[in-house]
Amino acid sequence: MTQGSAPQGAEHEDPRRRIPRTDALLALPAVERARASLGETVIRGIVRAAQDRARAGEITPEQVEDAVLGAIGDHPAASMRPVLNATGVIVHTNLGRAPLSAPARAALQDAAGYTDVELDLMTGARSRRGAGARAALLAACPAAEDALVVNNGAAALLLATTALAAGREVVWSRGEIVEIGAGFRLADLVSSAGARVREVGTTNRTHAADYTAACEDGQVGALMKVHTSNYRIEGFTSEVGVAELAGIAHEHGLPLIADLGSGLLRPESVLPGEPDATAALESGADVVITSGDKLLGGPQAGILLGTAATIARLARHPLARAVRADKLALAALEATLTGPVPPVLAALRTDPAALRRRTEALAARIGGELVAHDGRVGGGGGAEVPLPGWAIALEPELAPALRTGEPAVVGVLSQGRLLLDLRCVPEDQEDAIVVAVDAVREPR
Ligand SMILES: *Cc1c(COP(=O)(O)O)cnc(C)c1O
Repeated sequence: MTQGSAPQGAEHEDPRRRIPRTDALLALPAVERARASLGETVIRGIVRAAQDRARAGEITPEQVEDAVLGAIGDHPAASMRPVLNATGVIVHTNLGRAPLSAPARAALQDAAGYTDVELDLMTGARSRRGAGARAALLAACPAAEDALVVNNGAAALLLATTALAAGREVVWSRGEIVEIGAGFRLADLVSSAGARVREVGTTNRTHAADYTAACEDGQVGALMKVHTSNYRIEGFTSEVGVAELAGIAHEHGLPLIADLGSGLLRPESVLPGEPDATAALESGADVVITSGDKLLGGPQAGILLGTAATIARLARHPLARAVRADKLALAALEATLTGPVPPVLAALRTDPAALRRRTEALAARIGGELVAHDGRVGGGGGAEVPLPGWAIALEPELAPALRTGEPAVVGVLSQGRLLLDLRCVPEDQEDAIVVAVDAVREPR
């Protein structure tokens, strides 16, 4: 490559002429082996980058081979790296929400190849997509007559409002028209579905009569009940519960959509204020929407549970095809529901005394101080509910190196200290924290 630009017949050999040729680098045994995990474009890019560094004088031509081998060795198949979540925030949106249970991880792996997602192997005929996940949902939530799994909670809301209320109004309390993070406003989504948001009531108080009045004028497609999963209004407040709202909806021949967000299928004693799908359905909601990767503890998914007639209406809508769940999510969701308590619920139900013992023991190993620290549910519900617990306080200077280390350890910076909360750290990963902290404390 460089030959053409090298000065002809130069007396002093240009060092760049000693840069190993592309074909020689590509033929290195380690590079050959890397072809099992890296594509040709990536490998050639790594080779070119090392040659360019030598041309720029950053490394010598003799160092090019090592640079290629090093870069190939460090190159992960995907750039997302595993993180030890030492924040105490269970459903951490920036860290990928719910970590999957062991059976869910195995199911993902099994479904990664060809799989009978839409084929009945007994008869050889086409079958209903995701029948296993549907059956697991109905077993976990018998109050639902039918279930449909889509891409995520937002997609579920889009599908429900499009199928039930496009071109008409969705009656919705002003106190429940929420933004759920990163500027994502539920009302904007519903408007984009072609339904008109009809705000009723006020920020703090909405009454049954507000909904009834809206239903009288004949423009309405559905009533909406949204769980304000990330904030709470306190004081002089009133809202209309699902049961009463369902009564108003059905009196006017309308469906009630209940968006719970959090993903609890049944009541959870640690979060007594958190609504659950079973209660909402038993109270008369026609369709309940929850996310798969919040408190349910599964993969990203939007779960629609409801009456047979309503779910059939949604499943028939053309948009259902655009928002359908992929086979990996269906497999992981089923395994989450049929498996043992998933990591999210285990973290939620952590016994503070046990957490204290773990934290004290690890603090003794890495040399930090034990401090009280409340965990949080995070973006999945249970707004503002503190989960009493403990953390290890370390020097704040360690934070960047721990974050960028191997494995990456993400804690919380609070009052001039770095706190490591073990609530969401698997017990078998504690040694990895010791190694990570030792590595960053060592002067390099
Ligand atoms: C999280 C949430 C959603 C969106 O669900 P995603 O799975 O993140 O798309 C919708 N509604 C409520 C009330 C939520 O809490």
